[in-house]
Amino acid sequence: MNGAYIATIGLEVHAQLLTRSKMFCSCAATYGEPENRHTCPVCLGLPGALPVPNRTAVEMAIRVGLAAGGRIARRTKFDRKNYFYPDLPKGYQISQFDMPLCEGGEIEIRGESGAKKVGIIRIHLEEDAGKSLHDDPDGTLVDLNRCGVPLIEIVSAPDMSSPAEAYAYLTEVRRLVRWLGICDGNLEEGSLRCDANVSVTREGAPLGIPIEVKNLNSFHGVERALTYEIKRQTEALQAGETVSRQTCLWDPERGITRVMRTKEQAHDYRYFPEPDLIELEVEPDWVEQIRARLPELPWERRLRFAEMPGMRPVDADLLTSESEIADYFEDVLSATGNDVSRSIRWVTGEALRWRKELGRGERFPVSASATGSLAQLESQGKASGIAAKTIYEEMAHTGRDDPAAIMKEKGLEQVSDEGELAAVLRQIIEDNPKESERYRSGEKKLQAFFIGQVMKATKGKADPKLVGKLLHKILEIG
Ligand SMILES: [Zn+2]
Repeated sequence: MNGAYIATIGLEVHAQLLTRSKMFCSCAATYGEPENRHTCPVCLGLPGALPVPNRTAVEMAIRVGLAAGGRIARRTKFDRKNYFYPDLPKGYQISQFDMPLCEGGEIEIRGESGAKKVGIIRIHLEEDAGKSLHDDPDGTLVDLNRCGVPLIEIVSAPDMSSPAEAYAYLTEVRRLVRWLGICDGNLEEGSLRCDANVSVTREGAPLGIPIEVKNLNSFHGVERALTYEIKRQTEALQAGETVSRQTCLWDPERGITRVMRTKEQAHDYRYFPEPDLIELEVEPDWVEQIRARLPELPWERRLRFAEMPGMRPVDADLLTSESEIADYFEDVLSATGNDVSRSIRWVTGEALRWRKELGRGERFPVSASATGSLAQLESQGKASGIAAKTIYEEMAHTGRDDPAAIMKEKGLEQVSDEGELAAVLRQIIEDNPKESERYRSGEKKLQAFFIGQVMKATKGKADPKLVGKLLHKILEIG
């Protein structure tokens, strides 16, 4: 049987919100503190303690909902999701069941076959559980610092059909939450977490039973786990087996999914309205204020950048991958007097390279204005491309922002003196008779070789355009 099998994938993304305090109490929501430092009767669920919702968390969730084009509920409520686990001292998690804060919306991804919109079913607020620490010799320990930290859960429609699309979607969600400043998007530290629902069915047949895959704690893991799971289900169907509802854990070391439990359904959690919290009224005026304060969104900015002359789609993608990069690019652009191509080259080249190399997070080691002035020294022919890179490296390491002064100090001004360069070139021609002969007999691509040699001899200070002209003059005209 060779009928085509198709996969259907939906993702549930949990994003930890960057609030100062937890979802329902005033404990700090900071990451990486000594264990059990930030707890109180509310987040430990002690008798008599009462939760109070965090307004900033609600606002952050509304920001994402609005950015994705969703509808913000006029009235919303919290519910208890009951289950037992050692890192959940209350015995329930406060979440949202039937009246989520936001419904609908979509996020556009660039999949294998072009742009595609992935629907958002809902975005709701909930609190995080604590963390079990399994690597202690005494056994499993529990750290409750994370208990009660605000989360949003973004539930996508089952609109993706390949691991690559799931990867693209997750990338897009991560960019959005970071862009809006509501989550740092760190999958490794767990501030962004992802579960997938995946089913396989024969083309034209009704949707298969979705299998939930958990523990996808890296982008690569999402792709690998889904690839594995789709293959496993396809083979099972081909062998005439049925796939039953279950929850699997991805094991990145062995590269397989393992059954964790047969999938629970909503009624297993005995959801009921949180009796300690009243329904939340979301004032439309407040929502409109939040909407008005939304920044230019990543896809809007990408579109605006893509319209600049000389901007390739791949550049627009890279420059809008983070708001910090987009801001930096616009600052360099204005410092160069709107030299688009040159600004793209400097930002996507040296600026991003040194930011990555020096590993200072989002911060660029050289200011946008210094990058812009250096780009101008280059465009005015005062510094060659190679010399400019040397100056950039110096600025990146020292934090200086005076490219012209560095150029003078290091003697990196471009040599544009014809006589001086011609002398250097004549020597190189003499030292390389074979190449000179080949150039004379028409092998013009050797021009790069000669320019390279002159650059080497002048330590990168020669004006390469002038060297090209001189080469033509000396070897062709004679
Ligand atoms: Zn607390």
